[in-house]
Amino acid sequence: MSNIVNEIERRRTFAIISHPDAGKTTLTEKFLLYGGAIREAGTVKSRKSSKHAVSDWMEIEKQRGISVTSSVMQFKYNDFCINILDTPGHQDFSEDTYRTLMAADNAVMVIDGAKGVEAQTRKLFHVCALRETPIFTFVNKVDREIRDPYELLEELENELGIKTYPMNWPIGCGMNFKGVFDRVSREVLVFSGGKHGQEQVAVDRIGIDEEDKLIEYIGPAFYEKLMEDIELLDYAGDEFDVEAVRDGKLSPIFFGSALTNFGVEPFLIEFLKQTATPTPRQSDKGEIDIYEEPFSAFVFKIQANMNKAHRDRIAFMRICSGKFEKGIEVNHVQGGKKVRLSQPQQFMAQDREIIEEAYAGDIIGVFDPGIFNIGDTLCKNPNKFTFEGIPSFAPEHFARVKPIDTMKRKQFIKGVTQISQEGAIQVFKRPNIGVEEIIVGVVGVLQFEVLEYRMKNEYNVDIKLEQLAFSNIRWIEESPVAVDKLSLTSDTRLVKDIKDRSILLFQSEWGIGFALEHNPGLVLSSIGKA
Ligand code: GDP
Repeated sequence: MSNIVNEIERRRTFAIISHPDAGKTTLTEKFLLYGGAIREAGTVKSRKSSKHAVSDWMEIEKQRGISVTSSVMQFKYNDFCINILDTPGHQDFSEDTYRTLMAADNAVMVIDGAKGVEAQTRKLFHVCALRETPIFTFVNKVDREIRDPYELLEELENELGIKTYPMNWPIGCGMNFKGVFDRVSREVLVFSGGKHGQEQVAVDRIGIDEEDKLIEYIGPAFYEKLMEDIELLDYAGDEFDVEAVRDGKLSPIFFGSALTNFGVEPFLIEFLKQTATPTPRQSDKGEIDIYEEPFSAFVFKIQANMNKAHRDRIAFMRICSGKFEKGIEVNHVQGGKKVRLSQPQQFMAQDREIIEEAYAGDIIGVFDPGIFNIGDTLCKNPNKFTFEGIPSFAPEHFARVKPIDTMKRKQFIKGVTQISQEGAIQVFKRPNIGVEEIIVGVVGVLQFEVLEYRMKNEYNVDIKLEQLAFSNIRWIEESPVAVDKLSLTSDTRLVKDIKDRSILLFQSEWGIGFALEHNPGLVLSSIGKA
């Protein structure tokens, strides 16, 4: 038993989020480097660099038997066992990206110091904020010209609505980057360039009281500026409060340079100090104890294998309590059956391996013969419970979809329904019209092409996609009148999703404002609550 406790206690699970190009791949690679999971940087390939046509992308999926979009990596650092959940860049940005955040306990947000908060960071941040996920910010690329650090903090606070606490402070930037002042140890970590970041670097540390030595290293002008900054930060800034960090109310900020490894290890050390053991999850029977409760998990992602001959799928699950052992028999609560979890896998960078055991906080992928749905609960305990479901996130692109050959309507409906159950697309229907019109919504536009490809290859149906001008979706939570009697702009459309929830599709923010203004008592939500 105590072995289980030890194993769970040393686990930390985080998602890494950023706008493309901020340095997520580079930082991830450096974590793996410091964790000893790889010996030399440059081995984790950036997906983004290979701009595949959709068909190539599908080929890759087939060859690997698993999505290129589903990197889950595990590495050890000191005595900790750390799971990183990667969130894909804009090429294959999809609803999965959001769902992945539901499986994480913490988020590491990488910001490009020259650019600040960008569109994709903003979207991912808001999904993290839904669950009050603790967010650790890494302001990257200080070895280049970056924006004024005070301005960056202000932007983070204003745009994202979170308090910040700089854990360190940059001294110069770009050509004049000298290092950072570590506010915890009250030392200056001197930047020496490093070997292009391929290997771990040792850092010189100089105590803030060693004035002469500091001036020698960073020069008198930077020394003076640093003293001013320290005074300002210490007296004018917010207090550091680790509980506020754990509640997702305060984001610790770290300045660094992933490329040169500078600041990566101090970040990791502080991150491990400030994070707690895996976060207990809520169920319909209350909070599930991560140690006491035997194995339990929820499915947050389903990946079709794309292998026509087998049609097998992989269900990714987040373990919420206890220990997983290969071949374990568990209750699949929603399916009402016992299932044996076979071929359990864990993922290391882009390889996967069969595992014997895993613990609360870990992510595993298991073979799914087509029985699991997103949000399903699995538990060893015969006194079953269900974890809180996973919400539906707002798609941003919409299209009317139909089979080119009308005789294939049945196959078409089957395919669209199955693909939507995997969570790759959302399907909406217009109530009260003759032949049912199918509207598909996706978060990333690539999913349309994936849908077209899969419908043809797996269901033998050619489809016609006609993109629609809708850009905003709102689930109706409360309506003062019957939903079809709402007063709306003529370009707003009422639809239902597969759970029969009523939804409004808007062509602009303005349409949303109109609806709220003209229907007092109308309550709209940008996520479909589970
Ligand atoms: P991602 O799209 O967020 O995964 O970004 P990448 O890790 O692929 O980085 C994007 C580009 O920024 C690459 O050319 C990296 O070499 C570069 N880069 C990443 N980190 C740093 C850094 O700390 N300093 C500098 N100068 N460049 C960086």
